[in-house]
Amino acid sequence: MPTKTQPSLRTFADWIRATDAHAERRLALARQSEQIFDGEEIASEIERVALADRLERWRYQLLNERRDEWTAEDQRLADALDLAAGRIARRPARPPRHARRAVQNASRAEATWEAALAWLEPDADLAELSARAADVTAAEFGPLAPDDSGVGGRRMLLYAPIYLSSYCVNHCVYCGFNYAKGIQRRHLGVEEAVGEAKVLLCWGLKHQLFLAGEFPRLHTTEYFVEIIRRLVALGVRPAVEIAPRATSSYAAMAAAGACGVTLYQETYDERRYARYHPRGPKASYDWRLEGLDRAGDAGMERLGLGVLLGLADPRADLLALMRHADYLHGRFPDRTLAFSLPRINEPPGSFRPPFVVDDETFVRLYCALRLAFPKAQLVLSTRESVAMRSRLAPICITQLSAGSCTAPGGYAQGTTDAQFPIHDRRSVAEVADWLRRAGFAPAWDIPPRGE
Ligand code: SF4
Repeated sequence: MPTKTQPSLRTFADWIRATDAHAERRLALARQSEQIFDGEEIASEIERVALADRLERWRYQLLNERRDEWTAEDQRLADALDLAAGRIARRPARPPRHARRAVQNASRAEATWEAALAWLEPDADLAELSARAADVTAAEFGPLAPDDSGVGGRRMLLYAPIYLSSYCVNHCVYCGFNYAKGIQRRHLGVEEAVGEAKVLLCWGLKHQLFLAGEFPRLHTTEYFVEIIRRLVALGVRPAVEIAPRATSSYAAMAAAGACGVTLYQETYDERRYARYHPRGPKASYDWRLEGLDRAGDAGMERLGLGVLLGLADPRADLLALMRHADYLHGRFPDRTLAFSLPRINEPPGSFRPPFVVDDETFVRLYCALRLAFPKAQLVLSTRESVAMRSRLAPICITQLSAGSCTAPGGYAQGTTDAQFPIHDRRSVAEVADWLRRAGFAPAWDIPPRGE
């Protein structure tokens, strides 16, 4: 039986016939779902997952295809599909996903965001902002060690990325791996990926982040799951930063041992988003925007958000990011939220970012995030210089990459075809030494849930 908040998909039959070119196929899907709800059809768990996938896909096709003429009835159908997919897959009941509404509208914490964003004004005192952010960080994550031993210092999680593949069907105008680039591409097999991970393990890094372009034929769920399984067996705590996946795909990765998903929206400015992502699956704004909803529903412990600075007005993007994070926290209060604000330093080819974010603004953006989200993990990568990392780490950063290479096979095989250049080229040991001298306790692994 449909619940009070879940209208039967049957009630949309006329609307589907009037608006959907594939109406009969959709109606058959709706009928099958309702028969399972009514107990008239018994489905195995595998069949239920497959059916939930199809309902989920239908919903995103609806969001994409009818976006320009969106009506209240489309919204009701989208919500009903979301609830039906969750129920078929036996996921915990949650209200329908509404990330788009969340990032576009004032949230219950709007006053907090506005107060944090006021520090982005050039005449706001940067020294005072930095001191406030540092106080908040110390209160939440502990003080720096009083001497240069690192003993008793604030924990700083170290990690490194592993680039699995430069194959990609997307056309992101700011990326050197985009489909149109005539570059030599590489895709690591499972053994090669394990080889990369072993190098990082030798350096002490147990938290490893897997990245890949979007190339469905190669980047299958089975491929990622196999790599995750192999690495978990070696003692790695892997997370993924890959193209958005279906809930079932994230669930398979979580079951294999993945601890988190990082998925940057790049920009929340939808018009600019469309211009930067003209072709390929990434052109679908909603599919990307709700990726972390799906990761959360799949049980991932850590949800990583961010924007690519340079693509749009940073203040507007930061506000949308805060609303998005608040929305995710509301849905998944037990998960760890992590933020990163990569900025485009050296764009490939002729692309010139229209909003150059200077160092001062960059520091303000991170500090504003710390004030708004005292408990969140703030991540800073080796895209930034040693000077910038030394400046920001004591103020608000809790997680740093180290020893990074952005080329597939770059650790074990020494390949150099990198996605973008890195600026902090110190080894992991050098970064750890620097952290100890600065009063941190370098941490090599994510603590188990709840600690
Ligand atoms: S940013 Fe990612 S999705 Fe876009 S072209 Fe580059 S690798 Fe592909």
